[in-house]
Amino acid sequence: MQSLDAELEDARRLAIDDLADAIESIGFECTRCGACCTGEAEDDHTATVFPDEVRDLEESDEYDGDYDWRDIARPMPYGLSENEAGDLEGETFEWALQTDDCGDCTFYEEDDSGTGACTAHGDRPLICQTYPFSVALSGTSQPMGEAVDEAGVVRAHECEGLGRDISRDDAEDLARALKERAVRELEEAIAVRDEYEPASPAPGEVVVHDSEGPKRIDGTPLEE
Ligand code: SF4
Repeated sequence: MQSLDAELEDARRLAIDDLADAIESIGFECTRCGACCTGEAEDDHTATVFPDEVRDLEESDEYDGDYDWRDIARPMPYGLSENEAGDLEGETFEWALQTDDCGDCTFYEEDDSGTGACTAHGDRPLICQTYPFSVALSGTSQPMGEAVDEAGVVRAHECEGLGRDISRDDAEDLARALKERAVRELEEAIAVRDEYEPASPAPGEVVVHDSEGPKRIDGTPLEE
């Protein structure tokens, strides 16, 4: 397997035209089914959000300061354990979009007819802008759902909107976001690798390591 640094170089060399060709050949149109925004059975919705994306959502004019860090993001649950009191504790890497009581993304809403909508649409994270696609590079995240199709380095994950016609402009916009996401994910992974020092959280405490260093669950740096 290549190093993360080599994968990052590959991601930076991805050609938008090639990615757009692949997306066009697979085809995609969002049906607003909400499957990529909601939890499944026992599993809460889990989608990576970068620290600057959390801040963009905190500062968005749309929410007028209604959301703080913890309303938007939760520690990525992988690697955390539950103590006797039922609280999560330990160290983890990166953040996931916060979920509501049903395990759905906190920004997901359905109208009376059951049609879903993203209330964060203009500020939604790159992983949401690019669903159901990913690139086949190690160190990049794979969204929820199995990969069901592949064209070049582009993978498509389970989604009822696959196979539908997509315009060239939309395919190119998606390709640009997909490349940006791959580069950002690898930059994040490299920064976490380079900055990581064990934090020894206290019982009942969670420490999240992201590209900016170790943080508490409210997004403040651990050393403050
Ligand atoms: S931010 Fe929007 S698009 Fe992303 S998972 Fe939440 S509701 Fe869906």
